[in-house]
Amino acid sequence: MSSLIETPQSHYINGAWQAASRHFDVLNPLDDSLVTRAAAGTRAEAEAAIAAADRAFPAWAALAPGARQALFLKAAEITERRHDEIVHLLAIEAGTARAFASFQVRLSANLMRQAASWGYLPCGDLLRSDTPGRMAMVQRKPLGVVAGFTPWNGAFFLAWRTILLPMAFGNTVVIKPSELAPVTAGLLQAEILHEAGFPPGTLNVVTHAPGEAEGIADAFFDARAVRSINFTGSDRTARILGARAGQALKRMVLELGGYNPMLVLEDADLDHAAQAVNFGAFFHQGQICMNTRKVYVARAVHDAFVAKLAARTRTLKAGNPLEPGVVVGPLISDGAVAQTKARIAEALAKGATLVTGGTCEGRIHAPTILTHVPKDALATKGCDETFGPLLVIEAFDEVEAALQKAQDTPYGLSAAIMTGNAGKGLELASRFDTGIVHVNGATMAGEASLPNGGVKDSGWGRSGHYAVEDFTEIRLATVTHGPGMYPF
Ligand code: ADP
Repeated sequence: MSSLIETPQSHYINGAWQAASRHFDVLNPLDDSLVTRAAAGTRAEAEAAIAAADRAFPAWAALAPGARQALFLKAAEITERRHDEIVHLLAIEAGTARAFASFQVRLSANLMRQAASWGYLPCGDLLRSDTPGRMAMVQRKPLGVVAGFTPWNGAFFLAWRTILLPMAFGNTVVIKPSELAPVTAGLLQAEILHEAGFPPGTLNVVTHAPGEAEGIADAFFDARAVRSINFTGSDRTARILGARAGQALKRMVLELGGYNPMLVLEDADLDHAAQAVNFGAFFHQGQICMNTRKVYVARAVHDAFVAKLAARTRTLKAGNPLEPGVVVGPLISDGAVAQTKARIAEALAKGATLVTGGTCEGRIHAPTILTHVPKDALATKGCDETFGPLLVIEAFDEVEAALQKAQDTPYGLSAAIMTGNAGKGLELASRFDTGIVHVNGATMAGEASLPNGGVKDSGWGRSGHYAVEDFTEIRLATVTHGPGMYPF
C-alpha cells in the first residue's frame, strides 16, 4: 500500500510536504473509482515552489559532480526497490498495463544512472584569440530554475525526463504534473528524491485541479527566476504557452505529438514488420506520441502483411491493467474514447474497411485496424493524431510516392522502414523529416541514453546527454596577460 493513495495529498515544496487547503479527486480511468485526493494548487503555492527552487539553485549548481552522482544513484536504487508499487499506481491512475509500467520503471532507473555521470561531461572549451596574451574560454553553465509540465501518458518516465535532464546539468526544477496523473507524474518522484536525500528546493511539485492549469502556468511565466519552460503535451497547448514564452522571453523545450508512419517494403521480413507494427501502434492503447499511426505497405505484400498483423492484434488482451496478461488498458478519458470512436465511424461511413477491432466497452477500446480509408477521413490525415488504438494501413505501388505521402504531415517525431536491404532503408530514412527514424524497428523505442525528440510541429529539444544544449547556456570568459589592444 502506497502512502500516495492516502488522502488528502500535499504539495512538495522546499524539501517538505506542504498541506493544501483545497483538493480534487483523482479517478481511475477504468471505472472512475477514487485513487486519491490531490492538492489543488494555487498561484501562491506555485510562487512558493519557484522561490524555493531559486534559493536552492546556487548550491545545487556548485555541488561537486561526485556528490550529485551519489544522489542520482541512490534515487535509481529506490526506484527499482519500489517497482511493484509503481506498477500498481500506474495501473490505477493512468490505466497503464504491466509491460509498459514495468518498462517505465527500468527506463527511469537507467536514466538516473546515465544522468549520474553527466556532471563530469566537459563544461566548456578553450578558444584562440587574436589579442596577444589573451586566453578565451567558453564556460557551460546551468540556466537556473526550469519549470516543467509533466504528462499523464508515459507518466512515470516522462516526469523523470522532465526532472532529471535539467537537474543533471545543475538546474533546479518546479513541476506541475498533469491533473490526470498527479501521483505518477510528480508526487512519486518527489517521494523518491526526498528519500534519496536531495537538498530541499532542488525539486518542487505543485499539483492542480482540472481546469486550473493556467494559474500555475501564469506563476511560471511571470517569475523572473524561471529561465526555461519544459513542456510535454499537445501542440495545441504548446502554441498557447509558446506565445506566452515569447512575451516573457523565456526559453522552451517542447516534446509534442506525432503522426508516425512506417513503410513496409516488398523485401521486408513480414513477421518482424507485423510484430513491430502491432507493438508500435497499440502500446499503451495508442496514447504515446511515438505510436505508429499509419503503415504504407508494398502492394505485393499488403494482404499477407495485413493478415499477419491482424492475427497478432487479435491476440492482444484488453481489460483491467491489474489483471495478468492484459496489454491494452482503458483510455484516459471519455474525450479520448469519443475521439477514437468518431474517427473510426467517420472512416467507415466514407467507405473504409474494418480489419479488426472497432468495439469499445467502457473506456476499453479494442485495437482497431482500418484499410482503404479515403483521404478526406480524419483518421488518415497526418495533421491530426488520433490518441487511441487506431491504425490505418495503405498499399503503395511506388516507394517514392509513399515516402512523399508519409511526409505530408506538420509533425516530425518518428518514422520507421522495414526492409531486407538495410542500405536502401538508410537511404530512405535519411529523407524523412523527423527527429527519429528506425530501419527495421518500431516507430517507438525507448533507451535512456538516446536522444529522442522531434522537428517541425513535434517540438524541439532532445533527451539523453544531448539535453545539455537545452538546459545550459554558454558564457565567454577571457583572461589577458600583458598590455591589451585598444583602438584609442
Ligand atoms: P494532453 O491532451 O496530452 O493532456 P495538453 O496539451 O492538453 O495535453 O495538456 C498538457 C498540459 O498542459 C497539462 O498538464 C495541462 O494541465 C496543461 N495545460 C492545458 N491547457 C493549458 C493552458 N491553457 N495553460 C496552461 N497549461 C495548460
